[in-house]
Amino acid sequence: MENNSQTTTSEEFTRPQGAFGQPKGLFTLFFTEFWERFSYYGMRAILVYYLYALTTAHNPGLGLAKTQAMAIVSIYGALVYLSSVVGGWIADRLLGASRTIMIGAVFIMCGHIALAIPAGLPALFVSITLIVIGTGMLKPNVSNMVGHLYSKTDSRRDTGFNIFYVGINAGALLAPIVVGTVGQSYNYHVGFSLAAIGMLAALFFYYFGRMRTFPDIGREPGNPLKGNERTRFALIFIAAIIVLVAIIFWIHAVSGSAFIDNLINFLSYVAIAVPVLYFIRMFASKEVDSLERNKLGAYIPLFLSAIVFWAIEEQSSSVIAVWGETRTNLHPIWLGLHLTIDPSWYQLLNPLFIIVLTPIVVRIWNKLVDRQPSTIVKFGLGLILTGASYMIMMAPGLISGTSGRTSALWLVLMFAVQMSGELLVSPVGLSVSTKLAPRAFQSQLIAMWFLSDATSQAINAQIVQFFNKHTEIAFFGIVGLVGVIVGIILLFIKNPMNKLMGDVR
Ligand code: GLU
Ligand code: ASP
Repeated sequence: MENNSQTTTSEEFTRPQGAFGQPKGLFTLFFTEFWERFSYYGMRAILVYYLYALTTAHNPGLGLAKTQAMAIVSIYGALVYLSSVVGGWIADRLLGASRTIMIGAVFIMCGHIALAIPAGLPALFVSITLIVIGTGMLKPNVSNMVGHLYSKTDSRRDTGFNIFYVGINAGALLAPIVVGTVGQSYNYHVGFSLAAIGMLAALFFYYFGRMRTFPDIGREPGNPLKGNERTRFALIFIAAIIVLVAIIFWIHAVSGSAFIDNLINFLSYVAIAVPVLYFIRMFASKEVDSLERNKLGAYIPLFLSAIVFWAIEEQSSSVIAVWGETRTNLHPIWLGLHLTIDPSWYQLLNPLFIIVLTPIVVRIWNKLVDRQPSTIVKFGLGLILTGASYMIMMAPGLISGTSGRTSALWLVLMFAVQMSGELLVSPVGLSVSTKLAPRAFQSQLIAMWFLSDATSQAINAQIVQFFNKHTEIAFFGIVGLVGVIVGIILLFIKNPMNKLMGDVR
């Protein structure tokens, strides 16, 4: 994804140009990602409910089993981030980031339109395919472009990424309120069509904003395919599609009614295998020297702990969504007011806490300057908090059993603790991925970071199926404990890890 034209022209964008002294291009990318995430998290806020809801007079659901619905949501999330590897490659070698983003946006929009049509499971499969391809083309390249707005030494870079991260979460915050409310209390398909409209807004902001605010960035591929490579890659691409389609048909032929479950299992293996192959390729590459190999070695424990972190975080739209609908009191009386809660609203707690806590965390880092804890320590603490957030969720079951309903405030507490953890892992992990990358693989690192999320959800597709009200306490306890233990291990190995990482903190 490294792009020559991007690096050479970025200098002119280092002058203060827009709000907060940031390059104007940041706000084009901010609003593009705001609307794209609005559509994605809007769809995610209602997806699991749509999958397992039974059709009522007003609102058609697919009526799948809850376990299968949760597994589909997970594997879908895995594929969305897995495809960023392909999206990054297309930008870098074929189309340039800008065109890739635009085509991706159209794919995503069509994907949401497909779900807006009440056509059951076939529409779902079409939608998932389009959104997986589209998000892979858009998301890593938008994030990458943010980096290209600044020179490597520009001190506004980190703040720029923080502002961008708030944009992501602002979109994710609005989504459950709009798409969630309409989808759940009125009609799922109308909800999905609002997601499509959000994506149209993203396309609009990107199309008109990019010409005005960064006309030269991302126009050409940084490392375009040479003549003979074109034929080779075209053949590899066609062969890969044929093999994939053949495998899917084969799974269909041998599975009968277990087709969806077997497809999920197959895709889980793929999403787990891809990062393994990636690491092997980087370690084996002649272009990686021994110092870089050390850094890569240090990246492995971070990558593995990121998988555990994302596994818990991403269960918000499967396990936590189901828990919210089935186990919380949806008609509480708070401060004398009789309220009715749409369970999809619980999804707004994650982005809300991110937005509230980000300025606090940024202030703390700015105050500490060089006395900031190292990345390993931040990750360690982040994982302990994330694991603890799940262990807290054992409490309602332990206190009053798992068959009744309890207060939604448990979720507020869980998200508050978990998001404090997220801020120690997610932005830090993105930044350290760029710093630990061997030079020959620089351009693929954002994709690498998204792979940790992909793999986590591939694992989730398997484990969420164990969640139900009988296993609730054990489920939260075991998964939470894994998070806490991984966090403690990171704190224990901080010294050798810091040594391996060399100058990277
Ligand atoms: N929740 C963030 C987003 O949607 C983070 C995703 C990730 O880094 O895996 O952009
Ligand atoms: N915190 C997530 C992210 O940074 C958003 C969410 O899960 O709603 O985008």
